[in-house]
Amino acid sequence: MFPFFSYKTFFFLLLSFPVFPARTFPDPLTELTVDVRNSTWHDFGKFLDAGKGSEVTGMSELKKYFQRFGYLRPTPEMNFTDFFDENFESAVTIYQKNLGLPVTGKLDSDTMTQIVSPRCGVSDTTHSLHVTRHYAYFYGEPRWVGSSPMTLTYAFSPEDMINYVALPELKTVFQRSFSRWSSVIPVNFTEAKNYSSADIKIGFYRGDHGDGEPFDGVLGVLAHAFSPENGRFHFDAAETWAVDFKTQRSKVAVDLESVATHEIGHVLGLAHSSVKEAVMYPSLSPRTKKVDLKIDDVQGVQALYGSNPNFKYSSLLESDISSSWGLPLERRSSKWGTSLVIGVLILSLCL
Ligand SMILES: [Zn+2]
Ligand SMILES: [Zn+2]
Repeated sequence: MFPFFSYKTFFFLLLSFPVFPARTFPDPLTELTVDVRNSTWHDFGKFLDAGKGSEVTGMSELKKYFQRFGYLRPTPEMNFTDFFDENFESAVTIYQKNLGLPVTGKLDSDTMTQIVSPRCGVSDTTHSLHVTRHYAYFYGEPRWVGSSPMTLTYAFSPEDMINYVALPELKTVFQRSFSRWSSVIPVNFTEAKNYSSADIKIGFYRGDHGDGEPFDGVLGVLAHAFSPENGRFHFDAAETWAVDFKTQRSKVAVDLESVATHEIGHVLGLAHSSVKEAVMYPSLSPRTKKVDLKIDDVQGVQALYGSNPNFKYSSLLESDISSSWGLPLERRSSKWGTSLVIGVLILSLCL
């Protein structure tokens, strides 16, 4: 028997162990976006907990959001009502499945937090939802065609750039982003001098910039890129793009490298993933860095292009286990650990 254990110690220890996994609360920075009046998104809070049968003024605007990102088809009359009907319920359900959220069919807090988060402007694909894989492709699974190893050229727009990040620094960010993808597939990226003939054309634009996908000001939609073999790769110039959060202190700063890495995935042919930790997940909070490819990203892109012969899964697995797969393992082991400690304590108290 261990005489230094008392009942008080037992209950204290019991309370201090995480028997129930902690609920993940929304990142406080995510909620910043609610206050940023870049679009109608900030006003979506009033729909919280709405479900089938409810009617809330302005829900037609929320339906436009769902339409924009591929979850609702426009009605024959080309307008939406404020009524939460069956059709909208199924759109919400598919959205929740696609974004890896609890599937309730209602506009619960997890769903609303996700809806107001800044995100990529590319539509989520809703046609290729399956159970075992989480990455997705665009319709028809387009990819760049060429002999392997392939070299794609990229260039920056001579006019449409940002001036508060020095060009060499900006180019280094893009080099790193491209090299993450080229380290896993037999595709090289090189910068071309000639913008008009480059495969991938990078630029920063405001509002309506002529491709039918207008940007919306601070936060909201951050960037978009087109599927192969289009190569257009656009950033919202209204964002405060950061290459280093130590020097860029804005609360709404967005990490350029994270968004660049995500958009290159689209340029290569990946659509949005439902794995939250994956680079190809559609949203990114301000002041957040998410640049490392996860197993889901790698599997998705390698199924399109094959593997880079120098790529080793083992190095990826080491870093990935601590992130995308880490949580369930950690929870399982903490539960077992808790049971074990409680068991020993009960035994010691009985002796
Ligand atoms: Zn995207
Ligand atoms: Zn564009």
